[in-house]
Amino acid sequence: MIDIAQLRLEPGVERSLDVPVALPDIIIGGVTYSGPAAPVVARVDITRLISGLLMRMRLSSTILGPCHRCLEEAAVPVSIDAREYQADHPEKGAEAEEVCDYLEGDDLDVATWAADAIVLTLPHKILCREDCAGLCPSCGTNLNHEVCACVPAEGDDRWGALRGLLKDDSEG
Ligand SMILES: [Zn+2]
Ligand SMILES: [Zn+2]
Repeated sequence: MIDIAQLRLEPGVERSLDVPVALPDIIIGGVTYSGPAAPVVARVDITRLISGLLMRMRLSSTILGPCHRCLEEAAVPVSIDAREYQADHPEKGAEAEEVCDYLEGDDLDVATWAADAIVLTLPHKILCREDCAGLCPSCGTNLNHEVCACVPAEGDDRWGALRGLLKDDSEG
């Protein structure tokens, strides 16, 4: 939290602060992703304008969570550069542009802002590595570490023929 009133900003003045942030867990589709155990330092710039406050946050960190394919821990580097504006007297109907959701009175909730900004930058599928082989769909073996006996390689003709037979059966 930053208490903005304490900064006593005059119009036109910008202040830069290095704020330690304990990133909250991020839950996407029921899966929990977390930041590093130690707080991350966010650089927050706050500028007092005549009609409001301009806020910018920059932060780089690593987000940990299960790999989309093999479920082992994946570490994803993230880098955010987010901006918010809070008008002193927001116009009706312009709340989305003129009201900062992370400002409660004079307190700026940097941790929640950082977590929301990170969600926007996370890749759609988090992978332990680009070419992760994933788990065998039949027996669950992690194919990054070993090869199981039950795998006909993808594109195997026998497998395709078998699928065809099964399909005919269910339709007929
Ligand atoms: Zn993986
Ligand atoms: Zn298998």
